[in-house]
Amino acid sequence: MDAEIIAVGSELLTPLRLDTNSLFLTEKLNSLGIEVRLKTIVGDDRRRLAEVLRAALGRSAIIIVTGGLGPTEDDVTREVFSEVLGRGLREVEEIRRQIEQRFRQIGRKMAAINLKQAQVPVGAEWLENSRGTAPGLWIEHNGAQIILLPGPPRELKPMFEARCVDRLTRIVPQGRLVTRVYKVAGLPESEVDERIAPLYKPYTNPVTTILASPGEIEIHLRATAPNEEEAEKLVAELGRKIEQELGRSIFTSCGETLEAVVGRLLREKGKTLAVAEGSTGGRIAERLTRQPGSSEYFLGGVVCYSHESKAQLAGISPDLIPSEGSVSQPVCRALAEGIRRKTQASLGLAVTGLSGPSGATTEKPLGLIYISLAGEEGSEVREFRFTGERERIQELASQTSLNWVRKKLLQ
Ligand code: ATP
Ligand code: MG
Repeated sequence: MDAEIIAVGSELLTPLRLDTNSLFLTEKLNSLGIEVRLKTIVGDDRRRLAEVLRAALGRSAIIIVTGGLGPTEDDVTREVFSEVLGRGLREVEEIRRQIEQRFRQIGRKMAAINLKQAQVPVGAEWLENSRGTAPGLWIEHNGAQIILLPGPPRELKPMFEARCVDRLTRIVPQGRLVTRVYKVAGLPESEVDERIAPLYKPYTNPVTTILASPGEIEIHLRATAPNEEEAEKLVAELGRKIEQELGRSIFTSCGETLEAVVGRLLREKGKTLAVAEGSTGGRIAERLTRQPGSSEYFLGGVVCYSHESKAQLAGISPDLIPSEGSVSQPVCRALAEGIRRKTQASLGLAVTGLSGPSGATTEKPLGLIYISLAGEEGSEVREFRFTGERERIQELASQTSLNWVRKKLLQ
């Protein structure tokens, strides 16, 4: 059973707002075994919306529309649907009461235009809005399911979960879709694809999708089968081959973030970590602390940009930088050892380098990054040369650092 999504709103046609509702909806629909075949973005424009709706009625069994259900002049979804479907609008007493009550609760006077939201096309069911005044609408029309949802994501999401998921599950005839997400760090995309392409190419079910971002490659496997167990089996068969090929370069098979995996390993091994960050500017610490409960294993860190702060905050010898330069192996090693000593952590991690765009010399090119890890049995420094703009280099440096900690903990 195929679906299409229509996002309504002129702001979605500007560079200022992105249609994120359809991403949420697509994920939910996919997990119900429903494929999204088409997405349209249309402005608050009666004629164009009517055209889009007529086309959708001719091709899709499930049509989900978001936005334009509000009370203002530019909210035209309800009226256009009533017109195109030939179903007149009538006021629903209960919605009217709820809207009036909502305004009383927040102590505001209700403008008359708000009652527009109590108008429902004949034969439509309305879906209660727990976070706003515009109810959603569900219309069955010539065998198609038409679902109208409010535009604000914080209203749309709970409405879809509470009122649409179960009902769609009952309608969708067969088939379950199972997804598995592997994430890989420390290998370039070209190498990952070269190694696993011979494994996934023979399969059309699961479908394999590869997504790359700096320092991280995601491999998505999606299988459909009449029931969940069979879909799971299909995913597991190809999954096993990919796991064998990529080994420990895979850091998760269930979509976890790298910082979550590092946190879990630190906790499991009873180890703690502290960081001294130069070029990454605190993003390693920021990533680690996204995890709830990270205080159990992440002791803290410093962002040390200037020479003085490297000496004062990370406790390295003040003579070291003038002789070696701040972007150097000895300084990076001293930072890792220094922060470990100062915090008494089991592992000290340090990064220093040139993320650009200025500051490069012939001996020290842009993208030169040193990472050091200090532990009970000594410290090690590695040199990397990343390419790209500042943001990307910082991302690669933080990713590579966390991945090194992960590998260390797995040893
Ligand atoms: P309201 O009662 O708030 O007017 P509505 O159903 O009329 O609800 P819109 O007016 O179309 O919805 O959109 C309200 C806000 O919701 C927009 O300003 C925008 O920020 C957000 N929004 C609308 N559509 C989307 C979308 N497809 N993706 C993400 N955000 C959206
Ligand atoms: Mg609106």
